[in-house]
Amino acid sequence: MDKLNDKSLLKQHSYINGKWHSGDAKFDVINPATDEVLTQVTNAGVAEAELAVKAAKDALKAWSGKSANERAVLLRNWFNLLMQHQDDLGRILTLEQGKPLAEAKGEIAYGASFIEWFAEEGKRVYGDTIPAPSSDKRIIVIKQPVGVVASITPWNFPNAMIARKAAAALAAGCTFVGRPATQTPLSALAMAELAERAGIPAGVFNIVIGEDAKGIGKVLTQHPDVAKFTFTGSTNVGKQLIAQGATSVKKVSMELGGNAPFIVFNDADIDAAVEGAVLSKYRNAGQTCVCTNRILVQQRVAKEFTEKFTAAVAKLMTGNGLDDSVFIGPMISSSAVDNVDKLVQDSIKAGAKLELGGARVQVVDGNFYRPTILSQVTNDMPIAANEIFGPVSPIISFETEQDAINIANDTEYGLAAYFYARDIGTIWRVAEGLDYGMVGINEGLISNAAAPFGGVKQSGSGREGSKYGLDDYLEIKYLCMGGLN
Ligand code: ADP
Repeated sequence: MDKLNDKSLLKQHSYINGKWHSGDAKFDVINPATDEVLTQVTNAGVAEAELAVKAAKDALKAWSGKSANERAVLLRNWFNLLMQHQDDLGRILTLEQGKPLAEAKGEIAYGASFIEWFAEEGKRVYGDTIPAPSSDKRIIVIKQPVGVVASITPWNFPNAMIARKAAAALAAGCTFVGRPATQTPLSALAMAELAERAGIPAGVFNIVIGEDAKGIGKVLTQHPDVAKFTFTGSTNVGKQLIAQGATSVKKVSMELGGNAPFIVFNDADIDAAVEGAVLSKYRNAGQTCVCTNRILVQQRVAKEFTEKFTAAVAKLMTGNGLDDSVFIGPMISSSAVDNVDKLVQDSIKAGAKLELGGARVQVVDGNFYRPTILSQVTNDMPIAANEIFGPVSPIISFETEQDAINIANDTEYGLAAYFYARDIGTIWRVAEGLDYGMVGINEGLISNAAAPFGGVKQSGSGREGSKYGLDDYLEIKYLCMGGLN
C-alpha cells in the first residue's frame, strides 16, 4: 500500500451521505497471497445501513430531477478519475483480492467502461406514444427512475460488480447504497472517494462496509424506502434475498451462480479453442461466475485438445499477483482452496483421470491451488455438477451435437456457455439450443458494457450492461389523456 501514488485512495470507513463514518469496531482486510493484514476497516452495521438508505432517499429528488446531461457530466468525471487512477486502483485490488496486477487494472477499465457507457445511454431513456382505442384519448408512456437502489456484491470483482450496478442506477436517476464483500472493501471505498471528487452529490452513492451480512442484508432487502434490490453472488444466498424482498415486493435483479459448458466440436479450430479455454477458465484463478466449469470435447478431437490444452495450462505461472510473470493468483481463502481440492479428490475417486495439478501449491503462505485438469469426467461427478470457483478444468467427451446440448443443459444453472465450431448449421442449432443467457461462439471472453450480461434458470434474472441494463432501473408509467373531444 505504501507504493500508492495517491495514498488518499486508501479509505477505512463506510461512506454515507458524503461522509466517512469511523467507529471503534474494526475488522482486518487480508492479502490472500500472503495472509498478511493489509489494514483495518470500521465494521459498520444495521444502523449505518439505515442511515445510508435515508441518505439515498433524501438525495433522490435532486438527483432524479437533474437532466440526463447533467448526470452524464458527473458520471464522465467519475469515469475519467477512475482511469487516471487505474494503477493505484489496480494495486489496491490485487492486494485485497489476489488477481494479477494486469488483470486487476483490466477490471478497473472494465468497471469504468460501464460508467462511461451508461453516462451516454442515460440520455436515451425514450418513452412512447401508442394509438388509443378511442378518438378522445391519447396514450403516452414515460420512463422514470425506480428510486433508491440497494446492492450486495461479492469479492471476485470488487470494483466491476459495483460499477456495473451503480453506473446504470445513477444514469437512470436512482440513488445507490452498496454493501461490498468484507474480504474486499478497499476497492469500493476508493470508488467512493473518486465519486466524491467527481462531484457526485452526497447521498447519491453510499458504501456500507460491515461483517453483519445478514443484518445489513435485511435492511437492504426490506426497508420500505428501498425500491429495488440487486445482488451478485451465490444462488443459495440469492434465493434467501429474493424471499426477504418479497415481504415488501421489491424489484430484484439477480446475477447468481453458473456452470458454464465450453464445447469443442470436431471441426473447431483447436488452437483457438485452447486459447479461449485457458482465458475463460483460468482468469481470476477460476473464480468468476462465467468461468468455464466443464469442457465438453467431441470424441475425434478429444485427444488432440486435451494434449494441447494441458501443455498450455502447464505453462501458466501461479503466485503473488504483484509478480509480472504470474497468470494465476491466489484463491480468496484457505477454505476456498479446501473446497476445490475436495471436488477434485472426490472426482478422482469417482473415476476421473488427473492430467495436471491436483494439489495445493506452497508459495510462501498464501492460498494457492495448482492449475488442474481432469479427463474422463462424467456430468454427475462433483467437479462437473458443482460450481468449481477455482483453477480446475474437468474434460467430458461426447459423441453427437445433441449429446453436447443435453449435457450442457443438464444443470440448474444458465449463465454463460461457450462453443467452438465452424459449421454454420451447428453454430445456429447449438446457439439456439443452449439454455443460457450468454453464449460465446468461437470466443472465450464475452463481457463488455455494450452487451447484456445475465442468466436464465437459477442463474438469475435481469441484465447488466447494454440498453437492456438500463430497464432494470426504470419504471414504465402509462399516461392516459382523456376528454380531448
Ligand atoms: P460468494 O461465495 O461469492 O462469497 P455469497 O453469495 O456467499 O457468494 O456472497 C455474496 C455476497 O453476499 C457477499 O458480499 C456476502 O457477504 C453477502 N451475503 C452472504 N450471505 C448473506 C445474507 N444472508 N444476507 C445478505 N448478504 C449476504
